[in-house]
Amino acid sequence: MLGEKKYFLFDIDGTLAVDTTLYDGTKEFLEWIEETGGRCFYITNNSTKSRKDYVEKFKNWGIRTEESQFMTASYAACLYLKKYYEGKKIFVLGTPSFIKELKEAGILVTEKAEDHVDCVLVGFDSTLNYDKMTDACRLLFQKEVDFLGTNPDLRCPASFGFIPDCGAICRMLEVTAGRKPYFIGKPNRLIADLCMQQCKGSPEEYLVVGDRLYTDIACGIEAGIETAVVYTGEADPEEVRTSIWKPDYAFDTIRQLYDAVRKARGEGAGR
Ligand SMILES: [Mg+2]
Repeated sequence: MLGEKKYFLFDIDGTLAVDTTLYDGTKEFLEWIEETGGRCFYITNNSTKSRKDYVEKFKNWGIRTEESQFMTASYAACLYLKKYYEGKKIFVLGTPSFIKELKEAGILVTEKAEDHVDCVLVGFDSTLNYDKMTDACRLLFQKEVDFLGTNPDLRCPASFGFIPDCGAICRMLEVTAGRKPYFIGKPNRLIADLCMQQCKGSPEEYLVVGDRLYTDIACGIEAGIETAVVYTGEADPEEVRTSIWKPDYAFDTIRQLYDAVRKARGEGAGR
């Protein structure tokens, strides 16, 4: 039930904002959650930015956050690699920011198709070029080299429409090398679990909010948390009707969700 929710796991792109523009109601909703003793987490599959970058981005919107509130696909990838690839060499297709974050986490990273690479990790690489793709293929044709992706999203919302995301980059490699990656980000429940480890409280007190069914909504369902979709990004009512991933709640905008949560708490909507 919406009235029970204290801990919110928000997707960012297409849910709270598009590009650098916050949606109407986002700032008030986030502030209201924290003021009323709740906690906001930001679960994003966007691997172009580190947790530090996100704290800075939110600061520019006038929203105070801490790094621990950001569960990014790149941060989850760091934890995953530390657990399963300790001391192994990882070839990364990623932005300088992502590569820096991995190195700071103690991961042995290379950007060249060298010997003794154990794994290819693909992020949302907005600095991608053909040489990098060729190097990735050189490695993926060695079957002992593993194939990981930060997130399966095919496209990322932009002000004019969409741009290719990690999933689309991986598709190019998939059809070229004939291999499929294992994705660490949403819908993998790992990201939701990392948030739930930080706050005590039952799953009923959590809500996953997102604009995409096969990542955001699927992640909540996989983690046993209720979900709300907002129609400001990718999903629309028609997709909800036909998808296997059904959200518990649906709203046109983040402001409508904010109003509904306040109403469910008996607080009259609007501020
Ligand atoms: Mg989104």
